[in-house]
Amino acid sequence: MAEATAELIGGIEAGGTKFVCAVADPSTGRLIERTSSDDPAFLTGKTEEDRGRLLGNVVEWLRSRPGRLTALGIGAFGPLNLRTGTITTTPKPGWQGFPLRRHLQAAFPSAKVELDTDVNAAARGEQRWGRGQGCSDFLYITLGTGIGAGAVINGNLLHGLIHPEMGHMRLPRIAGDPFPGICARHGDCWEGLCSGPAIEARAGRKAGGIPAEDPAWTYAVRYNACAIANLICVLSPRKVIVGGSGRKAGGLGEEAFFHRLREEVQAALAGYIAAPELGEGIGGYIVPPGLGDDAGVRGAVALAMDALR
Ligand code: ZN
Repeated sequence: MAEATAELIGGIEAGGTKFVCAVADPSTGRLIERTSSDDPAFLTGKTEEDRGRLLGNVVEWLRSRPGRLTALGIGAFGPLNLRTGTITTTPKPGWQGFPLRRHLQAAFPSAKVELDTDVNAAARGEQRWGRGQGCSDFLYITLGTGIGAGAVINGNLLHGLIHPEMGHMRLPRIAGDPFPGICARHGDCWEGLCSGPAIEARAGRKAGGIPAEDPAWTYAVRYNACAIANLICVLSPRKVIVGGSGRKAGGLGEEAFFHRLREEVQAALAGYIAAPELGEGIGGYIVPPGLGDDAGVRGAVALAMDALR
């Protein structure tokens, strides 16, 4: 009986191709139970009905957990208007202009609801429990269906005008590279060149089947390194955490990917920024998430904990 009246907090990782939901202990953030919408039909459909069905499932699952939801954190794909809690110019059919925060607040009227970008949420999770612990200034980058990054600056998440959209920065083209990029807005921005679908479009096959020696990996590593070097120059992070499924780099593999990425970042910076972290310490500077593939959903739970403060 005690369990039925227990307080819970919830987290929703609203990703580009998948939603992950969890409930957690409000005082520690420990995950109690989780689920995910592994059915891509939920999100790749072209209609508002798909969106309604997905969110209906999310709400139903959260409501049927044994406990009272006191706070809900959402780390969502964007772009977002964080003032209104609305998804704005996403290319995802059925989601443009959707008031995500208001929708979930209406479903859980007594819960405090906190919305941020998926990468800001993951950065918050890494700050609380992962590789960002004790680190005042760091970046969390996700390489996946899309590319984005969250920045913790002086211990706080950077929002600014709306929120950073680092994945859409423009990169100098590698000489002779014929690939035009796939971003619907910019073509060859970082995401247009290095997202999972971009790498697959370049190689002409699924990432898992792209062998280590395929030039697609060389291009991806080099463009990623250029983007990270740019961010190091602009924000001077004390650490760069690289998450998302793209870090596993299909046929190249995660270990080789990180090894080459670190070398290419050093090459891009060309020794200009004198810090041991960018020299022999780079293995501890550009790192995978401490929370692994749970960075997103645990980050959403961290937002819920923030909301209760
Ligand atoms: Zn773009």
